[in-house]
Amino acid sequence: MKKQFTLSLVALLMAGLFSACAQKKEEPREPAKALNVIYFIGDGTALPQVYAGMLATRQEMVFPKFPYIGVVDTHSSSNDITDSAAGGTALSSDHKTKNAMVGMNPDTIPVKTLLEVFHEQGKETGLVVTSYITHATPACFYAKVPHRRQYEDIALQLAEADNINLAIGGGRKHFNQRKDSVDLIQRMENELGWKVYDTLADIDVTCKKYAVLANDDHMPKAADRGDFLPRAVKTALKTLDSAENGFFLMVEGSQIDFACHANDSAWMVDELVDFSYAIQVALDYAEEHGNTLVVVTADHETGGLTMPDKQGKYTNVSFCYSTGSHTCLPVMVYAYGPGAEQFTGWMQNTAIKGKILNACGLENVGDGLPENDGKRFKAVKANLDTKPEK
Ligand SMILES: [Zn+2]
Repeated sequence: MKKQFTLSLVALLMAGLFSACAQKKEEPREPAKALNVIYFIGDGTALPQVYAGMLATRQEMVFPKFPYIGVVDTHSSSNDITDSAAGGTALSSDHKTKNAMVGMNPDTIPVKTLLEVFHEQGKETGLVVTSYITHATPACFYAKVPHRRQYEDIALQLAEADNINLAIGGGRKHFNQRKDSVDLIQRMENELGWKVYDTLADIDVTCKKYAVLANDDHMPKAADRGDFLPRAVKTALKTLDSAENGFFLMVEGSQIDFACHANDSAWMVDELVDFSYAIQVALDYAEEHGNTLVVVTADHETGGLTMPDKQGKYTNVSFCYSTGSHTCLPVMVYAYGPGAEQFTGWMQNTAIKGKILNACGLENVGDGLPENDGKRFKAVKANLDTKPEK
């Protein structure tokens, strides 16, 4: 009797197990797709800058929280060391191009950017930066010019863009102190459908097309501009949250690069902390909504930053810069949300656009221009028997 009872218990358990399996088979779960994308670019921000920020503040900040982290090769089509224009074009469009070129391939043919694809898909779009809004990185998402210093042309292309819902940053002088004497701000408001503000205060977040040109020049340094960047991200998310088909928001921590060009560690750390707070705003939003992919990466490293103990005693870490310019050090990519698992391993900067589109269930059909997979090194098999020649 006891044996029979045990057997029937086993049979019961097995039946339960099978029905659980069968149930699972009936409802195959599609991997979740991202509706919204928040894309952070830390200009000049590779692993040394992130770790310097962590060391200086003795805080982890936001970076170790990301479940998926990869490595990104940043070289341009013309140089081992990229500038922000070629770097931004690769990150926005999946085309390597020549240094200084914005939104164009090496033959000066306009390339299609993430912002443009998402607008065509009915998503709302936004840009938030702490540099000029006309600076190379944001420009690479909406402008097409052969040289990044064509600021007034870039400002005109921003003003006339019909695919941008909000743009927040500095660089007001490129709109209202122009060589052609055109008051672009007036044109934007009177003819082109924008509401233009000069501060984040009192913004009508229900407005579907606005620019905040918060300074004539770049925004002030982090120490002087307060919480402008995290607040701008919060404001942008309040506006974009009502987008029916989702949104695409690009946010640049622009001045980490400036601080590293100046080899100014205190400034760099301030910018890093500010950038981290801004990313946290996005992560909080993504955690709450579940349908939002957050990707954080960089266009290149700046400063050749390293952290030795100059006495070689492993105790007194100092921040040392090997250049006042950019380097070819790879950068990191951090991802959270639906589709984030694609952002691991070693990749070219041109791979990120396709991965973001894929996370949203969109095929990266390309723009008909010749592909440049960006590979620069030949794959070789290691020959461990070979001794180096003397
Ligand atoms: Zn730079």
